[in-house]
Amino acid sequence: AIGYLNGKVISSSDPVLPIDERGHQFGDGVYEYIRIYNGRAFMMDEHMDRFFKSAKAIKLNLGQTREEIITVVNDLIERSGLADCDVYMQATRGIAPRNHLFPNVPASISMTVKPFRAMDETLRKNGAKVKLLPDERWQNCWIKTLNLLPNLLAKQEAFEAGAFEAVLVRDGIVTEGSSSNIFLLKDGTLITPPATKHILHGITRIAVLDIAAELGIPVEEKEFAPEFIFEADEVFLTSTGIEIVPVTSADDRVIGEGNPGVMTTKIYEAFMKRV
Ligand code: PLP
Repeated sequence: AIGYLNGKVISSSDPVLPIDERGHQFGDGVYEYIRIYNGRAFMMDEHMDRFFKSAKAIKLNLGQTREEIITVVNDLIERSGLADCDVYMQATRGIAPRNHLFPNVPASISMTVKPFRAMDETLRKNGAKVKLLPDERWQNCWIKTLNLLPNLLAKQEAFEAGAFEAVLVRDGIVTEGSSSNIFLLKDGTLITPPATKHILHGITRIAVLDIAAELGIPVEEKEFAPEFIFEADEVFLTSTGIEIVPVTSADDRVIGEGNPGVMTTKIYEAFMKRV
C-alpha cells in the first residue's frame, strides 16, 4: 500500500523512521483515521478539526496548513487507485536524541492509504458482545494521541473473554469503548455520554447525533452507570472502522431482546445513505 512521509510518497512498508523518533519512543504524537468511500473522504472537515485540536492540545506545531494536509490526502487517495480504503495519519514531535523535553525540530507527518479491511458483517447482523472493564486511561481521552496502551490492554482482555469490544467504566460511569463510542436507546430516546475530556469526540458520534436530529429521535447526552446498559432497549457502538454495530450482550448478560434493535438498524441505514 501507499504511504507518505514528510513530503515524499513512499511504500507503506518502507523502513523509514530512525530509532530516535518520538512517536515510537514516547508516543509523543497524535493521529487520525479517516474512511474513504467511493474515492471520497467521509467527514474530512471534522477529522481535520480534531487533528488540529489534538496537535494543539499537546503543543505540537504541525508545520502544515489544513489545506496542505487535505491536498496531500486527496493526492494519496488518487495515487492509490483505491475507492474503498482508509487513511491513517500521524504527526509526531519529530526526530531528536531521546529527551523528555521538546526538541526544536519540525514535526514528522506520515500517512498510509490502505484497502479497507472490513469487519465480519455477522457482528452487525447478530450483534456484538462487550465486556465492561475499568477505564485506566489518563484524564485527556479527548486528545487522539498515540498513547493507546490502556486501550490495547482493555481490547485484548475483552477479546480473550470472547467479546468484540471493551466498554470502559470510570468512577462508576460508562465512558466509551476502547476504540468506539457507545449509545443506548431507552423508551425512544437516544442516550450517549457527554463529550467531556474523558471520551474521544468521535466523528461517527457526530454523524449519529446529526442523524438522530434528522430522524426526530430525542437525544440526551448524559452520564450513566454500567447497570443502565441492562435497562436499555438497544445499545450500539460507533467508530470510523465499524460504523455502527449493535451490542446484544455485556458481560454475558443479554441486552434488550438480545437482537440488533429496530432503531439501531434505522440509524445505521441513514448512516449508510450518507457515506
Ligand atoms: N473512542 C475511542 C477511544 C476511539 O479510539 C475511537 C476511534 O478509533 C472512537 C471513540 C470513535 O471515533 P471515530 O468515530 O472518530 O472513529
